[in-house]
Order: sequence, then structure tokens, then C-alpha cells
Amino acid sequence: MLTATMVICTMGTHERHRLTEVINARGTFTPLGVSRSSAGVAAAVAEALPEFFVMDELADRASEALAHATGAQAGAVTHCTSAAITLCVAAAMAGTDPERIAALPDTNDMHNRVVLPAGHVVSYGQSITQAVRLAGAVVTVAGDETRCSIDDLDDELAGEDIACLLLVSSRLVTGEPIDLTAAVRAAHRRGVPAIIDGAAQFPRTADLLATGADAVLISAQKYLAAPTAGLVVGTHRLVRAVRAQEKGIGRAMKPTKEATVGVLAALEEWHAMDRAKWEADQAAKVLAFVTAANELPGLAAEVLADPTGLPLSRVLLTVSGGIDATTLAAELEHGTPAIYVNTAQSLEGQLILELVPLDSDELEIILTRLAMELQATEKAD
Ligand SMILES: *Cc1c(COP(=O)(O)O)cnc(C)c1O
Repeated sequence: MLTATMVICTMGTHERHRLTEVINARGTFTPLGVSRSSAGVAAAVAEALPEFFVMDELADRASEALAHATGAQAGAVTHCTSAAITLCVAAAMAGTDPERIAALPDTNDMHNRVVLPAGHVVSYGQSITQAVRLAGAVVTVAGDETRCSIDDLDDELAGEDIACLLLVSSRLVTGEPIDLTAAVRAAHRRGVPAIIDGAAQFPRTADLLATGADAVLISAQKYLAAPTAGLVVGTHRLVRAVRAQEKGIGRAMKPTKEATVGVLAALEEWHAMDRAKWEADQAAKVLAFVTAANELPGLAAEVLADPTGLPLSRVLLTVSGGIDATTLAAELEHGTPAIYVNTAQSLEGQLILELVPLDSDELEIILTRLAMELQATEKAD
């Protein structure tokens, strides 16, 4: 006879809690659980959960590991990147002054304006402007959605009460690209710190730091595949001020012990990894999928390079024949397991698939389901 505990042991999380089985070909997408941690990272997290730590010591070790991994002076862990944005803005306004930290989000007597290029007013599920306003700051938008020149930025940076310049490096930004190094220099000429939100850009952290930014913000749960955490890497001064906010509004945004230990484990794995081999394996996986997808009638597949320069490519499917791309994506989502793809270009008849976390069985399932859906519409015609 099966006892209740035995049932629990043999059931997976999805079955036990009646959750949809997901194949995530959409990318590092928050509503789907973002990424897949390795067995090593999972074991480090499990080992940390029943233990006590001197949390400040753990934060110091994380700072050393982040500095070592990225070349920054220092690093801090926050609850997530959204929290890191709020806390960096708070740090730029209040520094390490205990009275100011306690006063936030009341910003009386502080510089409280954050300059943000119009094309960088992104929404990652929340508008970035709200993450800024949560600290008590006010957003000043520079330029317009099509263009923000360095002169446009400088005009706003010359204004009253400027606390910092916030920039975003992401596929989500719109308009003509901004030269980030020139933008950081413009802020520094005005004596203002510059912060770059590069949440989904972990492999490019060093490039973003090379702009001279005072802090670069990264989501540990995206391409580092750690537990959910925000990473702030940058100058000693700004990182110290970010950590100091934990006695203020940062209380609600603090990192957990398990996430911090998970970040340490993921950084170690990243360091030990043969990156050239990883990139070659990913490229081979994408190419094999493209070749197989091109065999399917009603589909044309090609390799799509990352527009921001990440060292990974995706699969671009152009859907023709009896089904439109939006319907095809919906059918994939409604099946079992639910397959999620990126539909940002579905109105143009295109679907984008990111294969990074997927294994060969999952890729087989996607190809089989694509073939089934395309065949079903052929028959219906
Ligand atoms: C994902 C993302 C965020 C939010 O990161 P969280 O760690 O989920 O809070 C912020 N900015 C950009 C550009 C993102 O892609």
C-alpha cells in the first residue's frame, strides 16, 4: 500500500500541486519561472536553507565573488533587478546617511530627479519608471522615443536636483541606439552617477561596466541561472550605499540567504565553465533545430543573432500556409505540455524560439507539435 509520504516522494512538483507542464522556448521570461538552475546550484541552495549565517559576512563574500567574476570594485545582491533599480536610485539620493535612508521615500532636501532617455522607458512587466518612483524619486525623460542625443541628455542633466542617470541595455529599448559610454561620460561631467539596467545581459556585464557606469544591474535568475536575485556591480561607493538601504526601504527588497548562496554557486560554475564550448554547443543546437524545422511544410526557419550582442542566437520561424503565427503560438500553449514561444513578431507572421535551457527531448517535442499543428491546418483547408 502506498502511504501519503511515498506518494509525495514519487510525485513531481507539477503533479503534486496540479501545475501545467511547461516547455519554455520563450527565453528568460519571469511569468514562466525564468531559467533552469543546474543541479549544483540547486544542491547549494538546499544546503543553505537549514543553516544560519552572519548575513553581513555572506554579503561580503558575495561582493568579493561578484567583483572577481565581473571586474567591478564591489557587488551587492538584492531581491531582484527591479529592487536593484529602486535601491540604486535610493543610494544615489541618500548615500549612506542614516537620516536620509530613514526618511525615504520622502526626498525633502535631497537631489531627487532621475534622468532616463525616452527610448529606455521600458516595461519588463512593470514600467521602469515605477521602480524609480518607488524610491521617492521623480523621472525626467530625455529626448523622444525615436532619438535621444547626448545633447538631449546633457540638457536634462544640467537641470536642478539631478540624482543620477539611468540607462537600459536590453532588447526592450526603442529608437536610435544611444552610445552608452558617451552617455555615462555626460553624466560624470555633471558630477552625477550613471546606472545601467542590464538585467538580461549577464554575459555582457564586463562590456557594460567598460562604459564607466557606476553600477550595472543584472538579474541573477536570467542568464546566470541562479535563484531569483538582483546583482549590483560597480563602485565601492555606490555598492556600499545600496547595501546601506537595507536599514530603510531596502528592507522589503533584501536578498535571501538561499538566493545569495545560489548566486555564489552559479558564479563558481560560470567561472569554471568552458565558455567557448558552451557557445559552440548552443550554436549547434540552434542550427540542428533550424535544419529540422525547415523540413516541415508551411515553415521557414533561420538563425537569428541576438540584437544586443549576447553570445547566443535564437530560431526565427516564418509561418506560411494554412495557419497564422499567432494561432500557431496559441495552439502550442494550449497543448500538453504547454509550449511557450516569443510572439513579439507574430503579427508579421514570425515566432522566435530561445533554446538555451532546453534538452533534446524537449526540442523533439516542439518539432513534433509544430508538425502536428501544421498538418492539422493542412487537413482543415
Ligand atoms: C527582467 C528585467 C528587469 C526586472 O528584473 P527582475 O530581476 O525580474 O526584477 C528589469 N529590467 C530589464 C531590462 C529586464 O529585462
